[in-house]
Amino acid sequence: MTKTTRSTSAHTRQTDTKPLADFEDFMRTGQPGRGRRGALIPTAPLVLLPVGVGIADLLNALPYSMGTVLSGVLAVFVVGGIVLAERNAHRSGPPGVDWASADAYRHRLMADQSPEIRAVLSSVQRTIRNRFRAADVVHLYAMRPEPQHEQTCTIDTGGCQCAPLRLSAALIPYRRHPILMFGERLLAEPKAAAFVLAHEAHHARRGSRTPHRLLGAPLLAGWLALGLTMPPHLLILVAPAVWVVVTATQWADELVADVVAARAVGPDVARCYWALVRSARPRPRGVSGALTAVGWLFSPHPPFSVRAALTTRIPSRTPGSSGSPRT
Ligand SMILES: [Zn+2]
Ligand SMILES: [Zn+2]
Repeated sequence: MTKTTRSTSAHTRQTDTKPLADFEDFMRTGQPGRGRRGALIPTAPLVLLPVGVGIADLLNALPYSMGTVLSGVLAVFVVGGIVLAERNAHRSGPPGVDWASADAYRHRLMADQSPEIRAVLSSVQRTIRNRFRAADVVHLYAMRPEPQHEQTCTIDTGGCQCAPLRLSAALIPYRRHPILMFGERLLAEPKAAAFVLAHEAHHARRGSRTPHRLLGAPLLAGWLALGLTMPPHLLILVAPAVWVVVTATQWADELVADVVAARAVGPDVARCYWALVRSARPRPRGVSGALTAVGWLFSPHPPFSVRAALTTRIPSRTPGSSGSPRT
């Protein structure tokens, strides 16, 4: 009784100030940090580190050791503030979203699917839900390119830039509202979808999602703090070492997720998926090929060639072991 009254008044308060955003609109406008904004984050240390060094240089013009002290205080505030903000966002999920519209969207999406894909989606939702104790459901969202893109899309005739959007998936690990987003092309490929979503289910494990969160916004704040507090002669050694450790941690987690997923659905399915992705992407050549290669060094994901090569090393399951409950 009390609970109903409280939730009603909370709802009224919310609608008084600002209407709640429809889930589909909210996701489509790119709020969850994928797309362009997401692609910029890996290179952000190249900006944040020099900015930190620049601020430290300015502060060091102050008399005595005031500059050093102020740089340290600023670094603590930046890191502390970002960690707290990240923790709040993680706990409550994005504010102002109408989660009832997320439920309606999920039901509509499921109703349109084949029995095979419905089974895949239900199974991965159950697995992820078991790893998020505070969540009632795992929200689903199908990523689609802009409608006008369809007319010029070359995904079936030599590859298109929209392939990553349409053939990949991501888990946004909000504690109470985990969101599983995936490319709409996977809905026509139940086996490939099973592999990709099993990979995301690995990221729902605490051992994967906690480091993943720490290597997001807190790490960016950390780069700024490093520039603020570390003397340049040490920074030359420490910054590349931090970079290597961070990238190695991220790549290792991705490769483990690939192996776990390939073992769960069968390495042949994984091999087919990588073949599908590679045929759907344009092959960068010349300067753009060189830029892509450098881009991988900044990427939290290892190159596709490495991931595909790894799946060829996983032995196929022997007949009879496919029904094993051990995954
Ligand atoms: Zn396209
Ligand atoms: Zn992953």
